[in-house]
Amino acid sequence: MLVLVALVSGFGLGCARLKLAPRYLSRCPAEGPEVTSDLGIRPISLDLAAYYAEITRYADRFDVVELAQIPDPTAAAAAPAEYPILVLRTRDRGAAKRMLIVAGIHGNEAAGLLAVPRILDLLAERRPAHAGWAVTILTPANPVGVAHGSRYNAEGCDINRDFQDSQTLEARVLQDLIVSERPDLIVSLHEGAQDGFMLVVTSMGSEESGRAVVEAVLEREIPVSDTHFLGFALGTLGLSKEGRFYDWLKTVSHHYTLGLYASRRGIGTYTTESDWAALDLEQRVRPHVIAVETLLARVPRDADADGP
Ligand SMILES: [Zn+2]
Repeated sequence: MLVLVALVSGFGLGCARLKLAPRYLSRCPAEGPEVTSDLGIRPISLDLAAYYAEITRYADRFDVVELAQIPDPTAAAAAPAEYPILVLRTRDRGAAKRMLIVAGIHGNEAAGLLAVPRILDLLAERRPAHAGWAVTILTPANPVGVAHGSRYNAEGCDINRDFQDSQTLEARVLQDLIVSERPDLIVSLHEGAQDGFMLVVTSMGSEESGRAVVEAVLEREIPVSDTHFLGFALGTLGLSKEGRFYDWLKTVSHHYTLGLYASRRGIGTYTTESDWAALDLEQRVRPHVIAVETLLARVPRDADADGP
């Protein structure tokens, strides 16, 4: 009940957030890949062609597969008519645990995409402390959104609200990957309206691991938010640990996120949210890398979940 009160008062406190709530809660609120300037977002311009070129350069150290081509019927004559979703995998598939990292599900939250080459560099070091993990990275999860600098895909849909009957090709691709890879945990890279970095850990994730991530970000002197991006005060600095109640709340409000889909399959999701208004690009990109690094360094074990 406290959480419900916090949620309601959070929405009540942030008038702008309240007004925008229907857009952020519904599946396909836009006409197409619209560019919005809500809640102080400072968009990072990202050259998608250069991004693909950079990512595919890692093919010498990772297995790189094109998972799907996403059509862009809204493209201008000179622009590509479709864009690939790529998957990169570490080559030690026999590792005890599997991590799936998802970047760019919201196409206008570019810091997570910029973190991917750094995460690949980190994985390429093959640190002994990370040896227990096989890692798969899916990027960009919403390529048309990235091409247009939009939260939405070509149909105006928010992919991260489409994990029930998956109307969008992007959500189907991601669901199929989760079913085939059966990851032990998911890290989803986002940006948000809160003031500083925050991490959301779903019901099947570990609060202890979440605290370790926030501590590691603080240690590197990156600002951490005391407020959730929805506007309410966080009980723990920088961390929102969701319980089963959140799964229920998302279900009854038809808020079908990747995290809820994963929870129903017993998989914990760690959603990294950098500050999308921060002027310092490093403050936006580094926390995602630090989060992955911290989660990899935690000894993979079956008990790495608080949920039953
Ligand atoms: Zn997002």
